Amino acid sequence: MPEMFIDGRFTAGIGAARIPIIDPATEEVIGDVPRGGAADVDAAVAAAASAFTAWRRTPANERATLLHEVARKIDEHMAELAILLTQEEGKPLPENEEELEWTKNSFHYYAELGRHEIGRVIPPGDPAQFNFVLKEPYGVVGCITPWNYPLLLLAWKVAPALAAGNTVVIKPSEYTPLATLKLAEIAFDHLPPGVVNVVTGYGLEAGEPLVRHSHVPVIAFTGSVATGQRIASIAAPMMKKLHFELGGKDPMVIGPDMDIVTGVRALAYSALLNAGQVCTSTERVYVPAGMYGTFAEELAGFISTLRLGNGLDAGVDIGPMLRDPFRRKVQAHIDDAVARGAKVLVGGRKSARFERGFFYEPTVLIDVDHTMQIMREETFGPAIPLMPYRDFDEAIRLCNDSVFGLGATLMSHDARLVKRFFEEVKAGTIWINDPLTDNYAGPFGGMKLTGGGRELGQEGLDEFREVKHVHWDIEGGVKAYWYPY
Ligand code: NAD
Repeated sequence: MPEMFIDGRFTAGIGAARIPIIDPATEEVIGDVPRGGAADVDAAVAAAASAFTAWRRTPANERATLLHEVARKIDEHMAELAILLTQEEGKPLPENEEELEWTKNSFHYYAELGRHEIGRVIPPGDPAQFNFVLKEPYGVVGCITPWNYPLLLLAWKVAPALAAGNTVVIKPSEYTPLATLKLAEIAFDHLPPGVVNVVTGYGLEAGEPLVRHSHVPVIAFTGSVATGQRIASIAAPMMKKLHFELGGKDPMVIGPDMDIVTGVRALAYSALLNAGQVCTSTERVYVPAGMYGTFAEELAGFISTLRLGNGLDAGVDIGPMLRDPFRRKVQAHIDDAVARGAKVLVGGRKSARFERGFFYEPTVLIDVDHTMQIMREETFGPAIPLMPYRDFDEAIRLCNDSVFGLGATLMSHDARLVKRFFEEVKAGTIWINDPLTDNYAGPFGGMKLTGGGRELGQEGLDEFREVKHVHWDIEGGVKAYWYPY
């Protein structure tokens, strides 16, 4: 039975209650985990705080070796972890293998970056003085993760946090804690006890005590805007460092020069990956008015060929959504759009082919506009709304007409349009012709309501280090500018 991981030991925790974990493709219970609470969080934070003193003093080279070992063990258990991720989250096996490649390599990347530097030396004001900037770990980092990429989004927090010398308490999503506990069992077991801890449970019962805990100075959170706002309201008066990766409503603009086949294939991938449950899913699309009709028809045709099914089965392109309430939200957005004049070209309903599982048909909508929920709010499902634009000024204005600012894609080979797009669109990542492709060295994160946190790259390490300036007068004599004047 999977248990919580506290101070290097597996434990059922203080209470006896458990949370059932459901496979979204079959609706069957595939396991259960402890329903942790404040007392479990206290134990995990105490373990992490006591491990911190030694971990921060562990030479960076030794920490690097230990983090490379995490990566090696992930690689060794890749097949088992990929199946578990597919069972608890639903996306097709190849997508989970990809998630694990990213998870593994994030540990390799930060193992190396963590031993590169811990600050910089700056010019002193006087030759007898020495000035430098230290980048130090904070202490215990609370890592609160969502369900859509349970291990990838864990790695983007835990790898840099550990590389910087912090210890961590992880609170995985209540929907997808199994792969995280498996990771603790197979990949974190060689770390000193208390360096990594995992407390399972619901957001209010286990997440919030972590946010409120006075010995947790940093909360690294990926999840919805509503939860982020609640966490901020609790943590801000305590002056905690908040690292937020929240929701999105990413646009894609099809350039007037783009060939339709490439545009359609890029869009289908970026809108339907993980059944549209990616924070950077393309959620609204702007197409030149002159090619609008043809593009929509080609897209609807291509999408109809994609295979929906259990992510464990070979040849499946799109898995189920996570749960029925998320599926109902997609339906509500589509119904709202249709009530305001939009047309469904394909899909628009939950799949009738499956007796069980939270499947939703990939959907293409035309005649949408920005009065509709589907163009303004995060849908987080397999729906693709297409809107025509007259000129590029209008396309850019529509992209920026959003409270979110996570990613944005332009499909075009016209250098003038590309330059305008990356200069004028307000988003943390701009993709040109290759949506949703990340880079270990490239910071990932959002602007506006998406929150300003950055993961990956040097920026992703600096999120877990605080800055100290040291001013050292080496001679140390009495100064002319001291009292008396
Ligand atoms: P969620 O906000 O419901 O939950 C995220 C985590 O927060 C879970 O572990 C949950 O238990 C916990 N939580 C809930 N209430 C809490 C509270 N009061 N205090 C502390 N913790 C609490 O989000 P979700 O449904 O798991 O994930 C989907 C959302 O995540 C989408 O909005 C998506 O856009 C966003 N997301 C963003 C990124 C990004 O990088 N910007 C990446 C992936 C997902």
